[in-house]
Amino acid sequence: MNVSDTVHYVFLAAAACFVIGLHLMNHPRTARRGNTLSAGAMTVAIAATVWLVADEGTISRTGWFVLASGGLVGAALGLYAAREVRMTAMPQLVSLFNAVGGGAAALIAVNDLLRIENAGARVSLPGALDIVIGAVTFSGSLVAAGKLQGLVSGAPVVFPGARSLNVLLPVSSVAGSVWLVLAPDSRTALYGLVAVALLFGVTLVLPIGGADMPVVIALLNAFTGSAVAMAGFVLNETALIVAGMLVSSSGGILTKLMADAMNRSIAGIMVGGFGTGDSAPAAAGSGAPARVRPVSADDVAVQLAYASKVVFVPGYGLAAAQAQHELGDLAKLLTDHGIDVSYAVHPVAGRMPGHMNVLLAEANVPYTQLKEMDEINPEFPQADVALVIGANDVTNPIARRPGNAISGMPILDVDKARSVVVIKRSMGHGYAGVDNELYTDPKTGMFFTDAKKGLSELKAAVTEFVG
Ligand code: NDP
Repeated sequence: MNVSDTVHYVFLAAAACFVIGLHLMNHPRTARRGNTLSAGAMTVAIAATVWLVADEGTISRTGWFVLASGGLVGAALGLYAAREVRMTAMPQLVSLFNAVGGGAAALIAVNDLLRIENAGARVSLPGALDIVIGAVTFSGSLVAAGKLQGLVSGAPVVFPGARSLNVLLPVSSVAGSVWLVLAPDSRTALYGLVAVALLFGVTLVLPIGGADMPVVIALLNAFTGSAVAMAGFVLNETALIVAGMLVSSSGGILTKLMADAMNRSIAGIMVGGFGTGDSAPAAAGSGAPARVRPVSADDVAVQLAYASKVVFVPGYGLAAAQAQHELGDLAKLLTDHGIDVSYAVHPVAGRMPGHMNVLLAEANVPYTQLKEMDEINPEFPQADVALVIGANDVTNPIARRPGNAISGMPILDVDKARSVVVIKRSMGHGYAGVDNELYTDPKTGMFFTDAKKGLSELKAAVTEFVG
């Protein structure tokens, strides 16, 4: 068997490992193994590619230098980002990775076109799609990262004619793709298509605001996968096609799940711009001035110590305070005392899909205590205490009414619990920027403090009560 055949078998094995790795990520217990397997397979595939290229001897000395330095710089940046970036800044990082993936995929097709220019040029449809999807993903992801980082306004940016542009630009992309397929030598078609797609990425993401941001992150991730798969067709590379399609389909499924969790239709998102539908101020409550009931650590500790069933509701504030270990310790104390403890996990709690699962896994919380929204919601009426730690939007009852920024978003039914305690530092808003009626519910006590400090105080106070 020659080197080329061997390498293609390696690619096939790597592709199989990606599928198995993804399957292992189905469960928190095996997710780490899935990640390691997929990363290992990717490393082997890269090494095999280098072997193949060396065997073919088609790369010049300069080419090797560019390859090696690109690989080293990329690996160093990736390693640094993965180790140093705070969990709460993960969505920006994912967005930047999406941009890099989409941009690289688009460049493959552009390079392919430039190379075949004088050889009876021919461009395939996947090549044109690669350019369009890759360029849209590149610019769109940069805007999304800028929004998440606060460099671009987080509010929906809508200007006159924006909606028309969002129809015109994709139509132009289709027309430009057809043109490029029919006239692959045309530089006007190539550069025009790249420019239109880059602009579309910007106008697609700029109008996104507030609570719809999780959907766009997942959607751009799916786009990256599609662009990579198209690049696989351009290069005739099976492993790239499989890896790209896995990212694309899992990103697509995640987009659908996130859109459902935010109560947005994907079609509406694609055509109409994100988060611009419900920007009216929150509907008024009863009209009476809302009152808040502050509580102390001792008050809450008594409630917890005498409860039979406690539901913890973690949110972004838990991640911001890095208080997962304190929460795990408190939960263990209650569990050891014979109290039924569970964690209510909302699909968009925090700032990235699966954020709460990752945090709680880090604190070695028993998986049996983690409950998804549909599972935990019917249990709230039996909960003696629902302890909300840094969660806001995902518990806000105004989501059940029309006319506000989170209307229709499925929420955790925390207000159905017998009593509620909320740990947060102030009456400040969450991500969607709306008042939370849960905080002024007469059965809610507000424990105003940093989550880490508050949970440590609670643990100490509960320890005194239960001995
Ligand atoms: P929210 O953003 O609604 O609220 C978080 C709350 O945490 C704030 O009100 C803040 O109040 C509190 N907080 C911040 N720091 C601390 C701290 N150190 N200690 C205690 N509390 C703190 O969070 P949720 O998790 O409820 O909802 C997530 C929101 O983010 C949703 O709107 C969702 O759409 C959006 N989103 C989700 C993404 C995802 O994929 N999961 C991605 C992007 C956005 P205070 O300042 O008073 O302490």
